[in-house]
Amino acid sequence: KPSNPSSVSPAPDEPTDHRPSDSIINLDHGDPTMYESYWKVVGQKYTSITIPGFQSLSYFANKKNMCWFLEPKLEEEIKRLHKIVGNAIVENRHIVVGTGSSQLILAALYALSDPLNEPNPISVVSAAPYYSVSPDQSSSNCCFHLEIYVYTKLKSEVNFAKIANFTVMGQTVSSAESYPETTDFLRSGLFKWSGDARCFNKEGPYIEMVTYPNNPDGVIREPVVNRADGKLIHDLAYYWPQYTAITSPADHDIILFTVSKCTGHAGSRIGWALVRNENIARKMVKFIEINTIGVSKEAQLRAANILETVSLSCQRHKPRDLENFFECSQRLMAERWKKLREVVDNTELFFVPKFPIQFCNFTRDFTETYPAFAWLKCKEGMDCEKLLEGHKILTRSGRRFGSGAEYVRISMLSRDEEFDLFLQRLLVVGDNNN
Ligand code: PMP
Repeated sequence: KPSNPSSVSPAPDEPTDHRPSDSIINLDHGDPTMYESYWKVVGQKYTSITIPGFQSLSYFANKKNMCWFLEPKLEEEIKRLHKIVGNAIVENRHIVVGTGSSQLILAALYALSDPLNEPNPISVVSAAPYYSVSPDQSSSNCCFHLEIYVYTKLKSEVNFAKIANFTVMGQTVSSAESYPETTDFLRSGLFKWSGDARCFNKEGPYIEMVTYPNNPDGVIREPVVNRADGKLIHDLAYYWPQYTAITSPADHDIILFTVSKCTGHAGSRIGWALVRNENIARKMVKFIEINTIGVSKEAQLRAANILETVSLSCQRHKPRDLENFFECSQRLMAERWKKLREVVDNTELFFVPKFPIQFCNFTRDFTETYPAFAWLKCKEGMDCEKLLEGHKILTRSGRRFGSGAEYVRISMLSRDEEFDLFLQRLLVVGDNNN
């Protein structure tokens, strides 16, 4: 590796967090700053790159590849990491790189729509609660499927059992980072957000977004509409060993991944799609060509370097000073979830779901799911977002995911100091309301 970390070797974005104990804690976004602590240790020795001024001027990265803007080094490292982790099949798949997986969601929607044969926009659905919505801008009516859970507290265990499902009429709403807004922002004539997949009953072709583990609730999802005229986009942003057991290599038509949630490098804006069908991959490439004429080479090279380091850290004969990235981040997630459960179990006010323990083929051990978000539930009838906001904890209300106000989504990926402060405050909220 180059030894001189010059121009593109950035100083850490933010100084160490010494926030006053009464400051606002923003856990609304899933900003993955938790990972800074690992990368600070691994730091310059393994992950600094130098890009001299004469390099990477061309629009093209590899004219022989259908995805002509994909850096060969990134392609190689993506394949290597998937093979090591075993979370996706890469043989006979086309890799399309995007500016974050956000751009690839749109590219996939474009590629799956078929305006020549279908005059109307194709419906896009996802099972609620889905990757997030905000109540600010409503568009069309849609039906929401509500699941009612009975929470019971047994010793220190919180169990919940679904006792009823029903469907009500509500509003489709959208936000800055979400499937609904991504789909409808440009009012495309090709595709249209159609709400909760569980109550989708319109005839004709449709696209279903399937996310596992799911954002916001960490559940391992499967498609729910299951019709022959359906097309699927699998968003596996969180299918990495720190969040969940890797039970088998994902094998779907279109799979989306992102460095944002894998390594925490959200600022690099690099995502990739594994695509089975060549024509679909070509259309996705076309979309990105028209949209941004490719993807930043600097960002791709940095991402390749980061993925290479992660792969190296997983080798049996790895350097001694390079801790296994997934072991380290899984330990962090497990500790955070343990601490959160301790606080929650101390109160009668909050509940968090339990997840099944499964065998992980990567770690060769049994593990729980440690989602990147906690789907916290307050007592029935309470507005959880408001309650926490009163204690300067910003979260995202369950209403914005098609669920009730007693739920909030809380990012589990903040810096240590922020997370510890959050737990202290949650304890106080619980004590005040017990
Ligand atoms: N899909 C899901 C499920 C996500 O949670 C996110 C990030 N919040 C994305 C896609 C977008 O990720 P990126 O930063 O790669 O655009």
